[in-house]
Amino acid sequence: MLCPCGSTLLFNTCCQLFITQKQQANTPEQLMRSRFSAYAIKDGQYVFDTYGAAQRIKQSVSEIQLWADECQWLALVIHESGANTVEFSAYYVVDNTLCELREKSNFALEENKWRYIDGEITVHNEIANIKRNELCPCNRYPTAWSAKKGKKFKHCCAK
Ligand SMILES: [Zn+2]
Ligand SMILES: [Zn+2]
Repeated sequence: MLCPCGSTLLFNTCCQLFITQKQQANTPEQLMRSRFSAYAIKDGQYVFDTYGAAQRIKQSVSEIQLWADECQWLALVIHESGANTVEFSAYYVVDNTLCELREKSNFALEENKWRYIDGEITVHNEIANIKRNELCPCNRYPTAWSAKKGKKFKHCCAK
């Protein structure tokens, strides 16, 4: 399967290496991409583990898991990648509604590992209501990882 992060690499040669702890992310962008991929494959534990220590106290794996499970994560677009920041848009479907979440995220090194600290959400929009017989919205995004492009929503990214 293609990596959910939109790299066009296979998942097992991209974000899976970080999610399974075989490698550590070298940059904030790598960590951010792997966190999106973890949401996409619904691995709430990895999302939790890659928060900074002070943030983990305020989070629970089950809440992250609920949010990951509720959404179908279609595509990630990186707008800007800095030394400690990444600005991205994540596109997802929840309750048959296509949404965009755009955020400028802050990262820090803790014990030599990149960790997500916090972010400023600049866009959180409902883009469209998707009917089950419509072309799947993953077709709108070149970085979508769905292997079933050209399919109706109900045969593609719908739950
Ligand atoms: Zn990836
Ligand atoms: Zn789709």
